[in-house]
Amino acid sequence: MLTRSELPENPVALQVADGGDRHVVTAERVRGGQVRIGCTCRTSAAEGWCGHQVQLLCLRYDAVVERDGEAEFHFEDIVMGTPLADLADEVDLALAEYDAAHKGLEAKRSAGFDPDRLRRLAALATDLAQAASHLDGALARFKKRLAAGRA
Ligand SMILES: [Zn+2]
Repeated sequence: MLTRSELPENPVALQVADGGDRHVVTAERVRGGQVRIGCTCRTSAAEGWCGHQVQLLCLRYDAVVERDGEAEFHFEDIVMGTPLADLADEVDLALAEYDAAHKGLEAKRSAGFDPDRLRRLAALATDLAQAASHLDGALARFKKRLAAGRA
């Protein structure tokens, strides 16, 4: 991980597209190896975090508008190897597990009181409960770290 004084560009802003909307994600390395990251979208303002930030912290640039290798390179210098980027990976995994568990339960939800079906449903509901709890914990840690970067 480069130190703050070694970073050639700091902060870096990347524009992302989401449906018809455009948002700007800005990342800046601040003291103590912390990253201050923000997004102009409504979710970020309301929830304190958003998927755009998570995607970019996981170094996925699919949503970036007018892709610029140079800017992405500087963005990586800022976020790579930081605790915030590690937590974003954890949130990303937890989100995927939660989505899979949710879909699994939805697919089997149809009516009927057949014992096998009920047992299968109970197992899927347990999967979903665990995934939701894991996601809750991962998001809490991520948001705490985001707040530390803004302090
Ligand atoms: Zn956002």
